[in-house]
Amino acid sequence: MRRRGSCGTIQGVPELTASSLMEHHEAAKTLVSLLEGNGRFVAGEPRYKRDITSARQHALGQTPTAAVFTCIDSRVTAESVFDCDFGQLLVVRTAGHVPDRAAVGSLEFAAAELGVSLVIVLGHERCGAINAALHAVEDDTHDPRSDYLVEQLWQPASQALAEASEGEDAAPKALRLQVRRTVADLGRRANLDGVLIAGAVYDLDTGEVTLIEEN
Ligand SMILES: [Zn+2]
Repeated sequence: MRRRGSCGTIQGVPELTASSLMEHHEAAKTLVSLLEGNGRFVAGEPRYKRDITSARQHALGQTPTAAVFTCIDSRVTAESVFDCDFGQLLVVRTAGHVPDRAAVGSLEFAAAELGVSLVIVLGHERCGAINAALHAVEDDTHDPRSDYLVEQLWQPASQALAEASEGEDAAPKALRLQVRRTVADLGRRANLDGVLIAGAVYDLDTGEVTLIEEN
């Protein structure tokens, strides 16, 4: 059975613009539902065990309503973070959620063939890929052409370093820039008409997911 948002209000997602939510009502309900799942995860009260019984129940079909595009980091497990069962969430991962062709194609497939109405771009703090790009820009010793990931993350890393004040850690800024950049990139490049694309950041320490505003 397709999982629906149990709340359906827009109060849970204040960072998204009202026009986005009007335009994507079903996706907004799904987003609220996923944020409620994150609340259960943070509270230590998960609804789903995701054990072998559940795996068997969903073996013959899936009805996902959302896709999460996140980093490969081993600490960011989307099904746990949003407290979803088997069959509820499609997850696409690349280091630093760099939207390469395969990732974009996977999200397009999720929308066209599996009917998801929501894509969450989920960044996380202490991201190794983003830190590598920051170090490469800082040291100015790395040739971005020789490293695909550093090349892809060079722009947000250099912008974050340029905008950071004296002594400020540029990593949180670079992370948010990369999330926004990925959201914008998907909106431009992918055939995701009618799909709500939301940016969010996962806090490794608290387990909380926080939406970041559109711009
Ligand atoms: Zn990462």
